[in-house]
Amino acid sequence: MEELFMTVQTKIFTAKKILTMCPEQPFATAVAVKDGRILAVGELNDLIYWVKQSPFTPYEVETTLQNKVLLPGLVDPHTHVEAQGLLYSGHFVAQIPWPRPEGGFYPVYPTKADVLARLKELDRELPPGQLLYGVAYDENKIGGGLHVDELNTVSTTRPILVSNLVFHRFWVNSFTLQKAGISADNIPAGVEKGPDGKPNGTLIEAKGLMSILAVIAELFGDQEKKTSSILPLFAAGGNTTVCDAALGSLGSIRGSINSYLGMLAKPEIKLRVVGLPWWRVGIPEAGSLEKFIEMYKESMVQSTDKFRLGAVKLYIDGSIISHTTPLGWPGYWDGSPEGHMQENPEEIKSLIMRLHEAGISTITHTNTAAAFQFVLDAVKEAQTRCYRPDMRHRADHCYTITEAQLRTAKELGVAVSFFSTQIYYYGDAHLKIQGPNRAHQITPIGTAKRLGVSWTFHNDPPGSPQLPWIGAWAAVQRKTMESGTVLGPNQRVSVEDALRAMTIEAAYQLQLNREIGSIELGKKADFCVLDADPLEIDPLELKDIPVWGTVFGGELNPAKGGK
Ligand SMILES: [Zn+2]
Repeated sequence: MEELFMTVQTKIFTAKKILTMCPEQPFATAVAVKDGRILAVGELNDLIYWVKQSPFTPYEVETTLQNKVLLPGLVDPHTHVEAQGLLYSGHFVAQIPWPRPEGGFYPVYPTKADVLARLKELDRELPPGQLLYGVAYDENKIGGGLHVDELNTVSTTRPILVSNLVFHRFWVNSFTLQKAGISADNIPAGVEKGPDGKPNGTLIEAKGLMSILAVIAELFGDQEKKTSSILPLFAAGGNTTVCDAALGSLGSIRGSINSYLGMLAKPEIKLRVVGLPWWRVGIPEAGSLEKFIEMYKESMVQSTDKFRLGAVKLYIDGSIISHTTPLGWPGYWDGSPEGHMQENPEEIKSLIMRLHEAGISTITHTNTAAAFQFVLDAVKEAQTRCYRPDMRHRADHCYTITEAQLRTAKELGVAVSFFSTQIYYYGDAHLKIQGPNRAHQITPIGTAKRLGVSWTFHNDPPGSPQLPWIGAWAAVQRKTMESGTVLGPNQRVSVEDALRAMTIEAAYQLQLNREIGSIELGKKADFCVLDADPLEIDPLELKDIPVWGTVFGGELNPAKGGK
C-alpha cells in the first residue's frame, strides 16, 4: 500500500526552448524541479539519466509546455498592486487599451463625446443613487478635463467621480459637490474654481479628493477583495514576482502587510510580492522615523516565501507631463512656468542617509536630473560616512538624467529603473514639452547599458497598463504612439538586454538574485511561459508576444482567458 501514497519527487518540464538568463548555460530544453526549486537544467535524456542515478527519483515528465518557450518568471520592479485594485473597481473610460483581469482588453473611448456616451450607458445600468466611478481618463490625450456641466448631462441624481489615470486629477458632477457641501461660498483646497467663481468640477490631488470623501466613502471598502481580483493580470504578463511600490499608500503599512500575508498564504494565489513601504504613511503611522525603522525591522521577521519587505519608497519631484517638476535650464520648451519639487529634497536626502545607516535600501521617485542629483549626493554622503556595499539604493522613472550622472551612479552602485512605456504613450508630448534634444534623450537606457549601470524598466500602473511586454518593446523600439517617431535611436537596446532587465537584473535590484531571476540550480522554479520566442520573432511584434502564463514554484499557472 505504501507505494500508492509515495509522491513523485521530481518533475521534469520539457520546452521548445528555455532562455535561462544564465550566461554560463544560456539555452536548454528541459528543467527538473523538486520541492519547488530547480534541480537541474539541460536536455531531457540527459536529465532523466542523471535523475535515475540519484536519490531524487521517482520522477515524471511534464509535457504540457513542450511547445512553449520558457524564461525565468518576470520580476516587476515597480508596479502598484493595491492601487490597481482600486483602479479596477471603477469603470474604464480610457483612451488606451487596458487589460482585463479575465483576459482581453477594455474598449477605448477616443473622444470626450465617446466618454460621455459611455458614462450615460453606465448611468442607465447602475442602481439609482449608486456612485458612478469612471477611471483612467487621460486629459492629455483627450485635450482637456470634464466640466461639471458636461457630467451633469450624465446625471444630476447620483454622485459621479471620474479619475485621471494617475489619481492626480478628478472630475465630479454638481450632485457630488452639493452632497459634499461645496459651493461658490465654500471652496475647499484642491477644488478648482471657474471664471464665474463657482466650482468647475475639477478636483486636484489628494486634497481635492478629500473634500468629497463623505460622498465617495464606498470606494475604499473591500480592499482585499479588490486587490485579489486584479492578481490574474500578473500571470497574464508572465510575472511571478512584483513590487508594490508604495506599500500602505491606501491607509496603513501594517494593514497592507497583514492583508498581503493573508491573501498570499492561499495556495491558489501564485505570486510573490515585495512591498516597498511608503514613507509618507509609514513615518506618521509609526510615530517617528526611528519608530518606523523599528517597525520595518519587526515586519521583516514576518517575511514568507511569497511576501517580504523591500526598499523604502521615497518621492522627490512631480511629473514632467503635468508640468509640475523643475526641468532646469532652459525650462519647458512650450513656455510653461518652471515646476517645483513636490517634497523638500533636503529632507529626502537626510532620510536616505539615515535609512542607509540602518541598513535599509531606498527607492526614490525622480523624474528629472535635479531630483536624481539629490539621490546621488545623499548616497555619496551616506557611503562616505558609513560604507555599506550591501545597500541597493535605486532611483525610479529617470527621464532626464544625464550621462555624467549615470557615471556617478555607477561609481556609487546606485541602480536605476526607467519608465519606458512613457516613450511610447507620451513621447510625442515630450517633444513639445521638452524640445528636441531633451525629448530624444529621455529615459537614457542605452547610456545606462554602455556605462554598466544596473537598469530595469517598469510600467508603473496606474501610470500605464500592466503590460510588461509594452515596456520591453518601448525599450527596444523607442517609437512614439501618435507619430511613430523613434526617440533617441542610439538609446535603443536589444531584445536580449530587455529580457535580462525583466528577470535577473530586476531580481538583483531587489536583492533577490540568489533566489530568482534566472533558471539555474537551486533557484525557485518560477517561469514565464511564452507561445513564441522573443529572440526569434520580429522585434516590432515584441509588445504583442503571446503569453501562456507562468509556472510558480513548479506549479502550472495558465493565464485567465488564454491567448
Ligand atoms: Zn509608482
